[in-house]
Amino acid sequence: MSDRPVRVRFAPSPTGPLHMGGVRTALYNYLFAKKHKGTFIIRIEDTDQTRFVSGAQDYIMDAMKWCGIMPTEGPGLEGDFGPYIQSERKALYRPYAEKLVANGKAYYAFDTSEELTKMREQAKEMGMPNWQYNSVTRSSMQNSVSLSSDEVQKKIENGDPYVIRMKMPRNEDIRFEDEIRGWVVVNTNNIDDKVLFKSDGMPTYHLANIVDDHLMEISHVIRGEEWLPSAPLHVMLYAAFGWEAPKFAHLPLLLKPDGNGKLSKRDGDRLGFPVFPTNWTTAEGDVFSGYREKGYFHGAFINMLAFLGWNPGTTQEIFSLEELVSAFSLDRVSKAGAKFDPDKTKWFQQQYIRAAENSELAVMLDSELAEDYGLEKLETVCELIKERATFISDIWTEGSFLLERPKEYDAKTIKKKWKGDAEKNMNGFKTILCELEDFSPEGIEAAFKSFLEKNDIGIGAVLPQFRLLLSGKGMGPSMFEISAFLGKEETLERIKIGMSALATANA
Ligand code: GLU
Repeated sequence: MSDRPVRVRFAPSPTGPLHMGGVRTALYNYLFAKKHKGTFIIRIEDTDQTRFVSGAQDYIMDAMKWCGIMPTEGPGLEGDFGPYIQSERKALYRPYAEKLVANGKAYYAFDTSEELTKMREQAKEMGMPNWQYNSVTRSSMQNSVSLSSDEVQKKIENGDPYVIRMKMPRNEDIRFEDEIRGWVVVNTNNIDDKVLFKSDGMPTYHLANIVDDHLMEISHVIRGEEWLPSAPLHVMLYAAFGWEAPKFAHLPLLLKPDGNGKLSKRDGDRLGFPVFPTNWTTAEGDVFSGYREKGYFHGAFINMLAFLGWNPGTTQEIFSLEELVSAFSLDRVSKAGAKFDPDKTKWFQQQYIRAAENSELAVMLDSELAEDYGLEKLETVCELIKERATFISDIWTEGSFLLERPKEYDAKTIKKKWKGDAEKNMNGFKTILCELEDFSPEGIEAAFKSFLEKNDIGIGAVLPQFRLLLSGKGMGPSMFEISAFLGKEETLERIKIGMSALATANA
């Protein structure tokens, strides 16, 4: 760790909704900042106006709020380093680009896009498919390196459009130590003379990113692996300005569930799971699903994301956000791509719903239900059903029978279990229940066991039938808990109603 105060940023471009991978980048930045008592910043990188998507910035902020990983500095938040939207900083970039021209690290280039296309085509014809503007080719192009200063002056006075390009030195090794990948060495011959400042008066991503990270005193750049190829240029830029570079940490890719390639925005609904934190509606009205609307708890979503590329080095899997903060370190982030696992994501959600307080779950259920039945009853429903639920909606689908008599009886169970001595056994057990004084789960269980013993029959001869009559279902929580909750009167009533409904079944 350097001794600079920790200041990290999440720097999305508002080109659409935030993909799960983007949320993970934000999360790791958040965890790293909190862990080191530093500052987490959001900066909107909108220098490429052609890719701007309206609503994307609000979406990003809303999604981060839902995830509980809000930055403390950013647009609409506090902070002394603003503005935090690059288009609002437009005026400040040109002098930095000019500074590099003045100290010989960059140059003006007047080539039109037609000229560049022609050059590429000619090179292709000559067997060089990957023509680049670089230390070798720049001398034959229209720029302030190849032209005399008079010619350059004339072109500028004439209003000829130009860009400013980085003057990549020939055959030098650029080295930096990535916090996750270790030493990275790239030769400058492999990097072209990247455009830093465009003819439309806007900086490119590279220049704006470096200038802002410097001005915002960013200590660590934690971002996706797709930015690794840009890092050597960024290191060169810091050196060209004579600034201290931040430390870099490039996070592993998120891969599709089968491990074949990067998880893309299009994979989500196609493969049956969301790739976005919250729903995204396009300008055309198409809706892409999000974890929030699918019923995931933000804690489960974040917990799952934390494990995509990081592990705590122990067997613990369930972590609150606070626990993640104290356990997180870049040392335990892996280099290898992280396979997304939709089943594991559901598993996390199940663990969270099980661990939730019944009182919390009850208020998350439909408010009409609370009006109809009261929160106390709903809490018991949650208690009995949450072990079998993944989402809040499952609690009612699976557990409504606790408060409402079954409207139908599971056909498969009828076919398999409502035959032979079923009716006789249920009549016998009903008589026992009728006389039972201790109608607690334990009392019912004891009566049930002695009934089986006396009649020398197995559990399977009574329990599934009992469940079918009381709940209409083939599976569910403990029957002793269920009938105790329903109470003696209701239990007997449901047995009676059920038996007459099933009298003709399997006939
Ligand atoms: N604006 C870039 C993006 O959209 C940020 C890359 C970086 O963090 O440097 O991901």
